[in-house]
Amino acid sequence: MTVTCKDAQRSQAQRGTTEAFHCPPALQVTVTLTAVTLYRETTRGDLEVIIAHLGFLDNRELDLLRHRSGNGLVYYRFANLAPYGEVIHGVFTRLGGVSAFPFASLNVGRSVGDDPRAVEANHGLICQALNISPDDIATAHQVHSSRVAVVGVGERGRAIPGTDALVTGAPGVALMLRFADCVPIALYDPVKRVVGLVHAGWRGTVQGIARRAVLAMVEAYGSRPADIVAGIGPSIGPCCYQIGRNVVQLVQEAFADWPSLLRRQDDGSFHFDLWEANRQQLAQVGVGEIEVAGVCTACHNDEFFSHRADGPRTGRFGVVIGLR
Ligand SMILES: [Zn+2]
Repeated sequence: MTVTCKDAQRSQAQRGTTEAFHCPPALQVTVTLTAVTLYRETTRGDLEVIIAHLGFLDNRELDLLRHRSGNGLVYYRFANLAPYGEVIHGVFTRLGGVSAFPFASLNVGRSVGDDPRAVEANHGLICQALNISPDDIATAHQVHSSRVAVVGVGERGRAIPGTDALVTGAPGVALMLRFADCVPIALYDPVKRVVGLVHAGWRGTVQGIARRAVLAMVEAYGSRPADIVAGIGPSIGPCCYQIGRNVVQLVQEAFADWPSLLRRQDDGSFHFDLWEANRQQLAQVGVGEIEVAGVCTACHNDEFFSHRADGPRTGRFGVVIGLR
């Protein structure tokens, strides 16, 4: 396999290895058998991706921007949120951090069986990468519900019980939720300056949690859905997300256009397209701009925790969004 890049001094692919080499001016290319990344060093010393292909099979260009923080973490940002300087956000991977197998290594799940000291250290590294304080984080005890909580400065340092979506218009509050296949959805209204974060598995998706989060922004802050910018992050894709008969029925009841969301397999089972289901839900409520990462966590469990691909003993990756 040959990878061409006019800025690269050489290109080489080796199975299972990643090789970085310097290209003038301040450009680097990383090549593996399954990923190609072209990135440049930012003024902060982070590495920002210009082009990223996750998997040659997909052979698609991602909108997501890939960063490597100074403390060794790898995280993504949505291209449509990145231009807004007042928004702090990051879709973290499992890369970097201190947790041991099977939680290696940037696990932020506190209830998965990992060493609590490692989990707290990982939270500290994420905050360091984003230049925020752990005391600024408002989070939730996620239960696959459709409940949305509007939070303010009083909720910093707290975990809201029984909640799977958070919304805030308060600067200095960083919303954080945890994922291993479920869909992270980041929301931002640049007019009213409100952010939201959603954890949508199949239960939340059929119960309309993404729509409910947008409506909470409308109700609490007067947001207009057409102003809202949304990002649908890495999560289990229609390639891998097989569902049972009962879930098929719930999808058919919840979505008028269910044939576009259910993919029949050769063995008669169905795969559910959570990305498209949530995209349709946001579009139907009037959200103006929606970016879909299109990255499957089960296909890429080298980079993301995946409940399906790793089994039940695995970690959770963190997604953070807040206003400066
Ligand atoms: Zn997949």
